[in-house]
Amino acid sequence: MNDETKTADVSASPAPEHHVFEADVARLLHMMVHSVYSDKDVFLRELISNAADACEKLRYEAIGTPGLLGDDAAARITITLDEAEARLTIEDNGIGMDRAELAEALGTIARSGTRAFMERIEAAEKSEGTQLIGQFGVGFYSAFMVADRVDVVSRKAGTDAAFSWSSDGKGSYAIAPADLADAPVRGTRVVLHLKDEAKSYTSKWTVERIVKAQSGHIPVPIALIEKPGAEANEIADGTALWTKPKSEIGEEAYAEFYRNVSGQYDDPALTVHFRAEGRHEYTALAFVPGSQPFDLFDPDRKGRMKLYVRRVFITDDAGLLPRYLRFVRGLVDTADLPLNVSREMIQESPVLSAMRKGLTSRVLTALEKLAESDAEKFRTIWETFGAVLKEGIYEDFERRQQLLGLSRFRTTASGDGWRSLADYVKDMKEGQTAIYYLAGDDLNRLKASPQLEGFRARGVEVLLLADQVDSFWVTMAGDFDGKPLKSVSQGAADLAGIAKTGEDASSQSVTTPTVESFIGFAKTVLGDSVSDVRASDRLTESAVCLVAPEGGPDRALEKLLQGAGRIDGAAKPVLEINPDHALIGAIAEKGKADTAFGEDAVRLLFDQAHILDGGKPDDPRAFAERLSRVFERALGA
Ligand code: ADP
Ligand code: MG
Repeated sequence: MNDETKTADVSASPAPEHHVFEADVARLLHMMVHSVYSDKDVFLRELISNAADACEKLRYEAIGTPGLLGDDAAARITITLDEAEARLTIEDNGIGMDRAELAEALGTIARSGTRAFMERIEAAEKSEGTQLIGQFGVGFYSAFMVADRVDVVSRKAGTDAAFSWSSDGKGSYAIAPADLADAPVRGTRVVLHLKDEAKSYTSKWTVERIVKAQSGHIPVPIALIEKPGAEANEIADGTALWTKPKSEIGEEAYAEFYRNVSGQYDDPALTVHFRAEGRHEYTALAFVPGSQPFDLFDPDRKGRMKLYVRRVFITDDAGLLPRYLRFVRGLVDTADLPLNVSREMIQESPVLSAMRKGLTSRVLTALEKLAESDAEKFRTIWETFGAVLKEGIYEDFERRQQLLGLSRFRTTASGDGWRSLADYVKDMKEGQTAIYYLAGDDLNRLKASPQLEGFRARGVEVLLLADQVDSFWVTMAGDFDGKPLKSVSQGAADLAGIAKTGEDASSQSVTTPTVESFIGFAKTVLGDSVSDVRASDRLTESAVCLVAPEGGPDRALEKLLQGAGRIDGAAKPVLEINPDHALIGAIAEKGKADTAFGEDAVRLLFDQAHILDGGKPDDPRAFAERLSRVFERALGA
């Protein structure tokens, strides 16, 4: 039955209103139908998950308004198959939708970032595309993968009006009042008119298999009616998975539940399921996803841990985990909060902060254990979420040491692998007192930095920090295991006490008097543009480099802060000169007699140091002229 026939009796139901889909919906529908998704079974999971959400919302509303439940308090989802008509119906007795909600929920896409999401889907391989649906609240529209028409009839709990929504998914939909006699007493009925190639979804075996595999552990029971008029058979009992003992739950059941709660289609990388007893009692089931949610770095993104009170869903916005664990999905169920707790009260509740603390500790401990027992698996988690976890080093003072201990780094000694700070400390050189790092925005550039030369020559490992968050935590981290963290591009390098590989500490270079006086000369030439010029022991191959003066931010952080408009001018750098470098010796020698040349050389060296640092000469024209003068002189022109 379509809208036109349904609305033939104009006096009972006025003509349907036709609406055009929002542009993003139209585009999404087109994509859904024509390209990406190879695994069509997922539409069932999406519709069942909407039905279950609707039942949970009603359960929550009914705490304040018990009358909403009438004499039908038990939540349920019913799937009815009709092979003859090629129809599949999913009905729930949940909260339902009124006219405005139908138009809003099934005609628009509420969440921001839809466009970015669709661009990613369009670029993705088929299998990855499938993984992406549902992450983004496009769940309902997946019905059009298998149906060429979808009719929805809904009656909102507590109202005495019902409305129908109907569409072929091709650009518009119609909404009309529906006959109460044809509508569910409460809740929503979604009728899929299956495409020819999707008729197998009227087979009892197929549907039962899919439902059990995809939705077997959601907290609302599901019944199947094999054909119109047949008896309903329960195929999932609605026992919430998290209330069962761990020993009774298999890996696949956890994975299925994870997919429902996270909206992702992969397997969890880590599952943490526990019951806390004592002062506060609660059960928590948390998952670290196997892949990165697309909005992980969206500044608005919050944690998505759901809060239940005695199995009643309350909110997914309770802040059950700190921001740096925002990739963790799952739920906490407690009996220690009153059912009628308002969402605002939750935030202030001491019960919540106790659960937050307990849960955070359990998740971090589980990660630590995994790092020990299965380094390979931990490595993939680190590669997916490490940059987010590191935010905790500066956001969570209490757990700083623990988070530093969990962190893994690229270093001058790591190759393609990762090193922990414990590894680093264990391999420190004799005479080495600090943990050295170099921060920047590009790993390959970092590896090529002149600042590393003296450290390499001495076999001293340096952490290479190329994530954006690194510059923030590293200056605040203080120390690890009693060893301060020190930037190799800041302050004096203190390398004199560590022997170069193959030499002993006494064979350190000495700065000749000629170079000494050249350094003095360079100071006068550069004047205010530097805070110091000095001989370096961090250089072996390069002639010069820039470092930040002691005390201020290191050079990478300074650039970042400047970029963000947080500080105005940069601190004046220190120009370090390699006293062992042949070029420096020669320039110093020649500059003794020829001040004009000496001055050109000093300024060129300073510009060169800027370029090595990823910057530009201050005055490109003067730079070019000086370079030409020096060339001419060298060529005897
Ligand atoms: P999501 O579930 O991520 O919000 P969907 O596309 O699956 O996205 O559903 C969009 C919206 O439609 C839901 O948020 C809900 O408001 C509404 N909706 C869908 N199905 C139902 C249902 N069976 N009962 C009540 N509301 C529903
Ligand atoms: Mg949904």
